[in-house]
Amino acid sequence: MNHKTDPHDCCGPDDDVKPLSVDQALQRIVGLVEPLAGQERVATRAALGRVLASDVNAVVDVPPYTNSAMDGFALRGDDLDLAASDGLRLIGESFAGHPFAGTVGAGECVRIMTGAVMPDGADTVVMQEATNVDGDTVHAAPGGKHGMNVRQAGEDLRAGGIALTAGTRLKPVDIGLLASVGIAEVPVWRRIRVAFFSTGDELCSIGEPLREGCLFDSNRYTLYGMLTRLGAEVIDLGVIRDTREAIEQAFRDAAAMADVVITSGGVSVGEADFVKETLDRLGGIDFWRIAMKPGKPLAFGRLDEGAYFFGLPGNPVSVMVTFYQFVQPALRRLAGEQSGPELWLRAPCLTRLKKSPGRTEFQRGVLTTGPDGQLAVQTTGAQGSGVLHSMSIADCFIRLPEDSGDVEPGTVVDVQPFNGIV
Ligand code: AMP
Ligand code: MG
Repeated sequence: MNHKTDPHDCCGPDDDVKPLSVDQALQRIVGLVEPLAGQERVATRAALGRVLASDVNAVVDVPPYTNSAMDGFALRGDDLDLAASDGLRLIGESFAGHPFAGTVGAGECVRIMTGAVMPDGADTVVMQEATNVDGDTVHAAPGGKHGMNVRQAGEDLRAGGIALTAGTRLKPVDIGLLASVGIAEVPVWRRIRVAFFSTGDELCSIGEPLREGCLFDSNRYTLYGMLTRLGAEVIDLGVIRDTREAIEQAFRDAAAMADVVITSGGVSVGEADFVKETLDRLGGIDFWRIAMKPGKPLAFGRLDEGAYFFGLPGNPVSVMVTFYQFVQPALRRLAGEQSGPELWLRAPCLTRLKKSPGRTEFQRGVLTTGPDGQLAVQTTGAQGSGVLHSMSIADCFIRLPEDSGDVEPGTVVDVQPFNGIV
């Protein structure tokens, strides 16, 4: 089986094919990914972070009954003038959970608390602060409006109306909304399963002593974190040694148990490992050069078992940038999520940014308030693709277009605020 899309996509190390632009690469990836099938019903609390598989309709009106928005007195709007001159007769009370059983007639009123049911006959509430009670006569300040301070049944949502649409990833507010319309269980898409491993003989796992010439594997941790924030089931296959057998076995294991396989390292030019060679045998994987920094090399395609594959570069910042820009949108689509367009801002950059023309750069930035009190951005400092600290202190990417050179202070730049997965 060969899932390759177009032979020209394949940019081997020696190709001098023009690199893909960031937008071209994103379009291709998202275009090749299909949402996974498979739904389940889960309790409303368990649905937090899951993606709704169908529209959810309200089963009751919200609010379910017409009620008072204020503590005060419920009366007929036609009696507002009378309330301001002679006063109205107080005939009872309506408290939250304890409605008034009778009817408010002409010249009458009922003491009412916020959220309590509006008594029959009444359609207007005068707030307590605008009244003066003398025995069982209530006087109101002049100038009230017919219908004021009343929340109508169904004013938030009508029974039968759509409360949430299919493809929504449920946030805390959404599970609250589901509860408000009486929904105890919802259909959600099944979680996507993502297996990942690191390659490189220089990598140690935390807990092991750091050997001479080695470094700790951080990519499996940033990947674990971002995937977890995206609601995926993660399968961490550890560090795989650079032997033909170990790499091939790791790919076979990963593809057999996951919808998506992600690796880091081993896709750059001149890598002395077996990742590329193994992938050429195991499926239709394209090796792309993308005109971006960090994160120039990226492998993408499908393994023969059907799993999608992302081969990310090894450098810790490159992993996060390529995950954010390409893997994230693909995984959201696989998971059935339908999100609106992403938020981009334009803001003046307070600091100078070094850049050579030729590639789109995703520099790390911090949003701030400029000297004029308006939104501005500044750099996090050193931008090396191994400087994970630059991601840690950042709250946004500053995206500089391919043809841009150095950026002088005060220049307005494109800013992509992090969306919570970093
Ligand atoms: P590679 O793409 O395999 O050539 O790796 C590029 C750089 O990233 C090298 O300096 C590697 O040591 C480093 N690197 C690769 N994988 C990891 C990892 N899992 N954690 C931290 N650094 C890594
Ligand atoms: Mg390597």
